Amino acid sequence: SELATMMDVSVTDVITACMNLGLMVSINQRLDAEALVVVAEEFGFKVEFVAVEIQEAIDTEDETDEDAVPRPPIVTVMGHVDHGKTSLLDNIRKANVIAGEAGGITQHIGAYSVKLDDGRRITFLDTPGHEAFTAMRARGAKVTDVAIIIVAADDNVMPQTIEAINHAAAAQVPIVFAINKIDKPGANPEKIKEELSAMNYLVEDWGGKYQCQEISAKQGINLDKLLEKVLLEAEFLDLKANPDRKAQGAVIESTLDKGRGYVATVLVQNGTLRVGDMLLSGIYTGRVKAMFNERGTRITEAPPSTPVLVLGLNGAPQAGDSFNVMDDERSARDIANKREQLQRMQGLRTQKHITLDEIGRRIAIGNFKELNIIIKGDVDGSIEAMADSLIKLSKEEVQVNVIHKAVGPISESDVILAAASNAVIVGFQVRPSAAARKLAEKEEIEIRLYSIIYDAINDIKDAIEGMLAPVM
Ligand code: GDP
Repeated sequence: SELATMMDVSVTDVITACMNLGLMVSINQRLDAEALVVVAEEFGFKVEFVAVEIQEAIDTEDETDEDAVPRPPIVTVMGHVDHGKTSLLDNIRKANVIAGEAGGITQHIGAYSVKLDDGRRITFLDTPGHEAFTAMRARGAKVTDVAIIIVAADDNVMPQTIEAINHAAAAQVPIVFAINKIDKPGANPEKIKEELSAMNYLVEDWGGKYQCQEISAKQGINLDKLLEKVLLEAEFLDLKANPDRKAQGAVIESTLDKGRGYVATVLVQNGTLRVGDMLLSGIYTGRVKAMFNERGTRITEAPPSTPVLVLGLNGAPQAGDSFNVMDDERSARDIANKREQLQRMQGLRTQKHITLDEIGRRIAIGNFKELNIIIKGDVDGSIEAMADSLIKLSKEEVQVNVIHKAVGPISESDVILAAASNAVIVGFQVRPSAAARKLAEKEEIEIRLYSIIYDAINDIKDAIEGMLAPVM
């Protein structure tokens, strides 16, 4: 199973390949080194032994956990700059203080949890914006259940609004629209809805499927209705977790604090985190010495969907790193050490991203079903034309998706999205920024630059048909 995942082929194919080699194996059986090499070769892979497998000792989430109970949704707010993300997060935080839980939310710990009058809870990630959202996703964390896309009613659907929508869509996170600043004299919510509908995002009162709420983040108008819609969206998702197991989740942020040592905010996604638990996150370990909530109150346990500030790790893991509670210090240290060794040996690279050269072979193996493409260009007309032509290249074996398209140079945000969605970036008459180029190198994201649309379409067509001439 692990080998199949690494090669991105089906488990059945690996088992069949093993059988053809005279090896009768079960899905969880571990192959010895020699068998690994031979089986991988069958799929065109060369095995390089760098370090022992490190995931095995980690208790992973079980989707069919019968003891799972409903958990609060985790929500991210995204949108164009100045459209009101921070105001919305601040106001929900403040409104909840008035709604009267003991002690106000005093600290920015990266996330906070609010309780509605009827006792239902919502957890908000307090770092607004799609860049943060997708950067965490690129590290493997899937922490957002619902995205609020905020658009100012006295403005338009802007480039970053579109980017935010596309980032949420690429992550398959449901969207609730918040049309903000309705208190302003020039506000025209209907115009925003029209612009959204032009992008094929038809809101409910226009007969579409997207929930939408007009609000004023600043004056606190209709925020309760917005939260109601978020909860409704979450209900469809049937979110569950099992509080009676060892905790696992994701790191939201972490720092070194002069007085307290390493401080990390983590979001418990499953299980319950307790003081005294042995934590493993990235290459760091440590016993939970103390935990605090966003009100600065010391707590001893954190159930699912709770953000909590944790003291006790021996380093600062990165936002988006996962964490697990381990049985004992030795097994935690063991995995942390192996991870560190792996990092040293192969840099920080954890995932190999798709390149056009590789597509044909992967399609031939039969495990490549979707080619995700991001298109950046100099003018709208050529971007649309290219997107249309590329989507039409889809065939039975492989679906071509344009997950984001926009006018402008290739940005870091594009590269992060490509990393998170395993996409290839195509630039037409534009170039990557220096930062984007550097990040793309580090993340091994393929950027293809063209000055003739026809060349781009042909290359991708050839790639899909497995006939792309290697690039020099
Ligand atoms: P962000 O960049 O998306 O985080 O936007 P901010 O929350 O910082 O808001 C940008 C500006 O818009 C600030 O000056 C806010 O006071 C203002 N603003 C945000 N929401 C509203 C609103 O509902 N009504 C009005 N009149 N102003 C708002």
